[in-house]
Amino acid sequence: MRHRTKLRRTPRALAYAAGIALTLGLIAAPAGVATPQRSAQAAVQAQSEERFLEMYDELKTSGYFSPEGVPYHSIETLIVEAPDHGHQTTSEAFSFWLWLEAQYGRVTEDWGPFNEAWEAMETYIIPDFQPSSYDPSSPATYAPEHPQPNNYPSQLDFDAPVGQDPLANELQQTYGTQQIYGMHWLLDVDNVYGYGECGDGSTRPAYINTFQRGEQESTWETVTHPSCETFDFGGPNGYLDLFIGDEQYAQQQRYTTAPDADARAVQAAYWALTWANEQGNGGQVAETVDKAARIGDYLRYAMYDKYFKEIGNCVDIDQCPNGSGKSSAHYLMSWYSAFGGALDGAWSWRIGSSNAHFGYQNPLAAWALANVDALQPDSPSAVQDWTTSLDRQLEFYEWLQSAEGAIAGGATNSWGGDYGQPPAGTSTFYGMFYDEDPVYHDPPSNRWFGFQAWSMQRVAEYYDVTGDERAGALLDRWVDWAMSETTINADGTYQVPDNMTWSGQPDTWNGTPTGNPDLHVDVQSYTEDVGTTAAYARTLMYYAAESGDTEAQNMAAALLDGLWLHRDAQGVSVTETREDYNRFDDGVFIPNGWSGTMPNGDVIEPGATFTSIRSFYEDDPAWPEVEAYLNGGPAPTFNYHRFWAQADVAMAMADYARLFPEA
Ligand code: CA
Repeated sequence: MRHRTKLRRTPRALAYAAGIALTLGLIAAPAGVATPQRSAQAAVQAQSEERFLEMYDELKTSGYFSPEGVPYHSIETLIVEAPDHGHQTTSEAFSFWLWLEAQYGRVTEDWGPFNEAWEAMETYIIPDFQPSSYDPSSPATYAPEHPQPNNYPSQLDFDAPVGQDPLANELQQTYGTQQIYGMHWLLDVDNVYGYGECGDGSTRPAYINTFQRGEQESTWETVTHPSCETFDFGGPNGYLDLFIGDEQYAQQQRYTTAPDADARAVQAAYWALTWANEQGNGGQVAETVDKAARIGDYLRYAMYDKYFKEIGNCVDIDQCPNGSGKSSAHYLMSWYSAFGGALDGAWSWRIGSSNAHFGYQNPLAAWALANVDALQPDSPSAVQDWTTSLDRQLEFYEWLQSAEGAIAGGATNSWGGDYGQPPAGTSTFYGMFYDEDPVYHDPPSNRWFGFQAWSMQRVAEYYDVTGDERAGALLDRWVDWAMSETTINADGTYQVPDNMTWSGQPDTWNGTPTGNPDLHVDVQSYTEDVGTTAAYARTLMYYAAESGDTEAQNMAAALLDGLWLHRDAQGVSVTETREDYNRFDDGVFIPNGWSGTMPNGDVIEPGATFTSIRSFYEDDPAWPEVEAYLNGGPAPTFNYHRFWAQADVAMAMADYARLFPEA
């Protein structure tokens, strides 16, 4: 490890969380594009690789990892956003870790950490559950989704017709196992809840899940439960009958993938392969890259409708045709896929997802899986599927690009999650219905600028690698919009978009972009959030590297310098004012007559609140601030250090040094 000179600053305010509006204590300056001095750009270039190594070292030594070597969602324990505790982790965090280690291998020629990160992923977050008795002609029993948590449990409908799973047989033949090679999305790393593994109460990290009850179930309204359900905790049926109505309940396991994270792992492997090959070190990552191809093989489940119904105008579960062959593939990266089965092996199931959010698309990963020999999956139809997916994803962005240039939400093949009838005149994409906020509405899923930056960064990488002008055309308009909404102040501070609202809808897709004159975005608030800013700066960089747009490059350099103003002892952070933490008091719906207990004895019954079933939070060092807020005091403030955000900032620094070596 290179010796580093560490800037020690008093921790400053930090801020932000997915989709949460912030009060920054700053008045957003009028949007405008500043042109930094060339000297500033040169300074960024000279320092950025050093900054990467500083942050890398901090990520390894400052509390970001558990004793097992698993990255936490954040250093801080009291944090509620998609995870409901900071010492949980996500497949997202693992994927950012892999990406970080790819950059580290490029800079240092040490590929050991990249391979070790993949091994940790296999050990801790790819379930070794071996389903049996899976019947691809009957993948799952239908349970309709509902608008509100209090509409649950959802009754299983054993008579509803579902389609066929066209992947299972070829995956079985290719790999000789029914194990799904994909990450579950959420772990309780410190076993804070106490579920452990399959009822043992102690194994850590522990597989858990939260969201089960439709688009209005925010994190604040969830009941965190074990992925392996043994009825040792919760009620007589464990937690199953909070979510699913059945005649009798069986002990079972079930896991849910987040396709953007698995795709990001493939993306990381692409870069590791590329950079290791440039060094003549390709053999050092070959085994891991082969595993990335395998994850890409299974990631195809995300391309399918939830119940394998035909794609397009799929209204009414009884009327919409069942898919056969690949007619149930939308070829997009949907919100999840999931799988599970009885502990006694009597049955198992798999589902895709009908909902596609533009923010989860990853054309770089799709391109690599289709075109890079070492990453092409082994199953016979996989390369063709990824080839189709790449084109479909690019079309999806084209369909969803607003008049201003920002990308709107997405589409669903199952309106309302129950194959409902959308409003007359709803725009369509291959017969799927436009959805302004796919999957979740509390908060609205396309309010957050971070999805713009995350997703378009992948488009920009794809553009830089391939030169595809379709990507270039998308980025020309997106970058113009984003830069027009970004402020670089004379003192080096900055403001990037935070929350947005949407109006109108895209034109129905007919194969050619129309400019979507009736689809509009409006930026509601601005932020200094470090993760969002890093992803955005990286988008500008990759775009500039291919297009030669020096204004985009200059703004990226200015944002990197601005990020460095937020340096603290553990990375970079800004102060977040969490007005949403009044929701620690939120009621959690529990059906009348239902009663159970959490592993720590917290009672689960009607009248429960977010905190009443998470009493461990009252022992958290940050609790007094939250408690004071709940008692009428000011909203609490935190400087959070999220693993993904720190990794993204570090990689932004590394990218700049690589992409602009002559600056
Ligand atoms: Ca809600």
